[in-house]
Formats: sequence, structure tokens, C-alpha cells
Amino acid sequence: MIIRKLKLLNFRNYAQLELMVAPAQNFICGSNARGKSNLLEAIYCLSLTRGFRTTADQDLLKFGADSFEVSGEYVDERGAGHTVTIYFQHELGKQISLDRKRLQSHAALVGKIPVVLFSPESHRITAGPPAERRKFLDVLLSQGSSAYLADLQEYNRILRQRNALLAQFYGNGSNFPDRPAGTLAAWDESLALYGCKILQARYRFVQDSVEFLQQAYEYISASSHFLQFAYRSPFDALAREPETITPQSFMERLGEYRAREKQRGQTLVGPHRDDLELTIDDVDLRRFGSRGEHKSVLMALKMLEAEYLKKKLDTAPIILLDDLISELDETRSRQCLEHFTGRGQLFVSAVSLKDEPPSPDTAKFQIEAGNVVMKH
Ligand code: ATP
Ligand code: MG
Repeated sequence: MIIRKLKLLNFRNYAQLELMVAPAQNFICGSNARGKSNLLEAIYCLSLTRGFRTTADQDLLKFGADSFEVSGEYVDERGAGHTVTIYFQHELGKQISLDRKRLQSHAALVGKIPVVLFSPESHRITAGPPAERRKFLDVLLSQGSSAYLADLQEYNRILRQRNALLAQFYGNGSNFPDRPAGTLAAWDESLALYGCKILQARYRFVQDSVEFLQQAYEYISASSHFLQFAYRSPFDALAREPETITPQSFMERLGEYRAREKQRGQTLVGPHRDDLELTIDDVDLRRFGSRGEHKSVLMALKMLEAEYLKKKLDTAPIILLDDLISELDETRSRQCLEHFTGRGQLFVSAVSLKDEPPSPDTAKFQIEAGNVVMKH
């Protein structure tokens, strides 16, 4: 899937914009604070229905405006056209449509136009707390499978209820062991049902990706150090064959943690507690990795994302590389561009870029405060 035309109305610092983009590579240049990241954020929003630097839709609304609209015209692998529109207004909330039909939820759009994003905020994936790596897995696997997203939404809903129950009756020294026992058991069953599906999918993904990730890391770091990644949870003993993580085994784990859960008043087992461990030659990246190592691993993970989506969905993702050159050194950013060329429609932003020779597949844009000028 590639985007051909982007239209913005009151989105971030753009009052109104219509932009025809190139099918292969798009370079977006301009000084700081002109709207380069905002433009990439609009493309991201058309794939995942939200921005990448905020969780609040209203942050995307141009200051002082009362509604925004982003729309994209796409062409799929078979040459058919598609349109996505995201409209937001305070009272109405967010409305999403695909090919002019209103979608009931954002889940119906996720995965239709797969996207890979690299931005200055992405460093959190390798350096931040476990929640960042879970988010990395969830966004990727949700794009790859609508069933994964549905299971995750259901799991989170059940988790909230179960946590509310635990917090209400236990934790903080209060203890009413008899009253909610039956209710807690009912939540256990549904938590286990969805939890084990998410665990299976995450373990399987990680195991299937180890080899590609290692090769990508060797390429980008120009070294033969051994990058390993592993999913870490209380189910590691069953990880060799993820199918053996069943609702039954999930329930058993819950049983083992029961006393601790009552003490803490929260759910302590399940995919919401796990981590993705990254090591280089058996040394933990997050605790001991150098800055360069973090950058190379992050880039390898981005390559893995593009590879996974292409394989899983049979359509190349849109690849957004925000501030690539200032985040990576010159060699690595060149290698990275070389790698992604031909693996998806590229959007690369930078304060300044060397002039590329003009080609019909490539466009260069100059951004001036909320306006875009085509360079060639
Ligand atoms: P840099 O090179 O520093 O990354 P950039 O070109 O990527 O700059 P953007 O992050 O796209 O810049 O932001 C451009 C401007 O948009 C900022 O000055 C910011 O204040 C402004 N901006 C952000 N959100 C909104 C909004 N909701 N309404 C109006 N302006 C906004
Ligand atoms: Mg920026």
C-alpha cells in the first residue's frame, strides 16, 4: 500500500494542505519547528488513528481550531484506490472512515495500511521501562493480526475489572477473603483465556524473529557481536513450545501468585507484566549498552518490523523515518536508507539533506511554517 495524496485541515500547525507524494521515496526538509514531524505524524495517524507524540486526539487539533481532518488517498498492490479519513471534533469525538464508510472502531483500520515509525522518541524501546517494549510488541502484532488486537483489548478490559476488584477488597491491609472469592475466580478464567493467546503470539513472534534480528544487527553495526532477544515472563519454562501455554497453565500460575496478588491488590501474572530482553554477547543492553549499541539495536528492530509486516500482510508498510540523520551517524543512516529502499514507501525528514538526483519515484519537499514547497 502506498499513499499518493495527503490532505490536512487544521492538523497540528497545518491550516490546510494538499500534497501529492512520490511512490518510492519522499524527503522532507526544513528548519526546526516548521512541521516536518507533524507531517509524518499525519501519515502515521492515517494508519493507526492517533499521533505518535501524544495519546490525546485534541493535541493534534491546530491551536484555536475546533475540528481537524486528515485524509489519505492510497493505492494497493493490485492498483485499486482507497481513501482513509480521520475527523475529530470535541463533541463528536473521532470519526474514522475507510473508502467513505464509517468504521465502528479504530481496530477496524489498524493493519490495513501497515506503518513503521522511527523517531527520536523511539529510543525508549531499547532504553525505557518494560512497558515500552510491550507497546512495541503490541503495536506491531496488532498491525499484523486483527485477532491479536481483539484479544489484547479483551484482555485489558478484563484486567481492569480484575484489578479493580483486587484493589477494592484486598491490598492496603484490608482483607475480605470470603466475599469476592467467587467473583475473582470468574475473572481468572477469562483473564487466562485471553492472556494465554497473547503470550503465545508474543513468544512465537520473538522466536521466529531471532535470526533476522541478529542479521539486521550485524548489517547495521558492521560487527559480529551477538544480539539476542528473548521474551521474559513467568511462563518461560513452557516457552519452547508456546502452544503449551494454555488457559489451564495460566490459571495454575495465577494460583501460585494468589497470596501475593491479595497482598498487593493487583494482578501480578500476565502479558501486562512481561518484558522483552535484549542482550549483546549476553550483556543486558538496557543496563550496560553504549549509545551506539542502542541505536543499532533500535534500527535492527525497525528493520524487523518492516520485514514482519511485509511477510504477514503481503503488503509493504509505509516507513516513516523522522530525524533519521540527526539520530544516527552518517554511515548508519545511509545504510539504513539503503536497507529500506524498495521495502516500502519511504518518508524521511531532516533539517537538511544532500541533493539527490531527481527521479520520478522520489520527491523532495521543503517545509515552511505549515506550508510545503516541492523541490523536485
Ligand atoms: P524539528 O526539526 O525541531 O524536529 P519539526 O519541523 O519536526 O522540527 P514539528 O514537531 O513538526 O517541527 O512542529 C512544528 C511546530 O508545530 C512546533 O513549533 C509546534 O509548536 C507546532 N505545533 C504542535 N502542535 C500544534 C498544534 N496542535 N497546533 C498548532 N501548532 C502546533
Ligand atoms: Mg521533528
